[in-house]
Amino acid sequence: MKNIAILGSTGSIGTQTLEIVRANKDLNVVAMTAGSNIELLEKQIREFNPEVVAVWDEEKAELLSQRVKDLDVEVCKGMEGLITAATVDSADIVVLAVVGMVGVRPAIAAINAHKDIALANKETLVTAGHIIMKTAAEKNVKILPVDSEHSAIFQCLNGEKHEQISNLILTASGGPFRNMTRDMMRNVTVEDALKHPNWSMGRKITIDSATMVNKGLEIIEAKWLFDMDIDNIRVVVQPQSLIHSMVEFVDGGIMAQLGTPDMRLPIQYALFYPDRRNLSGERIDFSKITSINFEIPDMDNFRGLYLAREAGKAGGSLPTVMNAANEKAVAMFLNREIGFLDITDIIEKCMDRHQNIDNPSLEDILSVEQDTYDYIDSL
Ligand code: NAD
Ligand code: MG
Repeated sequence: MKNIAILGSTGSIGTQTLEIVRANKDLNVVAMTAGSNIELLEKQIREFNPEVVAVWDEEKAELLSQRVKDLDVEVCKGMEGLITAATVDSADIVVLAVVGMVGVRPAIAAINAHKDIALANKETLVTAGHIIMKTAAEKNVKILPVDSEHSAIFQCLNGEKHEQISNLILTASGGPFRNMTRDMMRNVTVEDALKHPNWSMGRKITIDSATMVNKGLEIIEAKWLFDMDIDNIRVVVQPQSLIHSMVEFVDGGIMAQLGTPDMRLPIQYALFYPDRRNLSGERIDFSKITSINFEIPDMDNFRGLYLAREAGKAGGSLPTVMNAANEKAVAMFLNREIGFLDITDIIEKCMDRHQNIDNPSLEDILSVEQDTYDYIDSL
């Protein structure tokens, strides 16, 4: 039996993780958390019987504890609750599927408590990768990628030597605005941006895919997960999302991982690594694929990819500024307070004014985050 804690159980990754639990009788959920969706969380509690749950929204947490009075479950709230769920004694592995850098402190707490991490929450590695990877190495904890590109690379690297890798090649779909100029993107709506061509995901990452900031975040995520220089992490647009990513080795050989766009595969692979299990669902049918295309990513019209890559190259606290600015700008765009192109303009403004801090501590990271939010408010 493997005991798992799921942070962000009500989200896109969280609910797909629960589908894997339903299909595998040797998985047991011991903790779950949600931001504010207590209706769904209550259903999940009644189905999966966790020991501990946490709700970020403190009023909702109160409401939930009333609603599940008849059950033997501890209801916690806020950041402390997330950390309690991330460190619950019985958990063997924590699926980190909250959205945003709110996951940083729970991630570090889970690693310190010797929990393996199935990591979907890329924003934590982008902002605190140096702390997380170092602590994980010290505690002998595995960081198992869930992001499809990173899972693909992880699968391609099975049994390979680090010094024999030449390049990591991240594939990108290009998002709903692929081949558009900035001018054409000026008046796109929230609804347009939420129409991802291949993947069904949470709202924040779907907007990140439209700006291509997502691929920039993934470059930094790959740098930390696989200990690679940013210059050796390439991006290629592969609009059908059949190739999930590739690795090029010193002899010129390239390994690729392919599959249908289904996040349950990388989630399941992280949960059972190094084993593979049967997974129901669609398979790639090569008799129906007419072509697999490749394009060079357009960094002029998709400034977000360029800016995130620059932040990754500079390192220090600049990736935190880029990420925090993006989180806030995307929330404002989703609230219809700003236009689509304003997202990357805001990121650029925040990055321009920042005095980079080398090797930032957790406190530095959280204060840079707050400072970035305050600056955007002042604009
Ligand atoms: P989502 O919005 O569908 O779900 C997010 C979860 O986090 C929900 O359970 C929500 O209740 C919770 N949450 C939101 N704000 C919170 C807060 N302030 N405090 C605590 N909990 C909070 O997001 P998602 O698409 O499942 O993505 C989760 C993470 O996985 C993101 O970092 C995303 O980049 C990454 N990811 C997602 C996919 C995907 O297919 N959805 C693919 C790759 C990577
Ligand atoms: Mg991805």
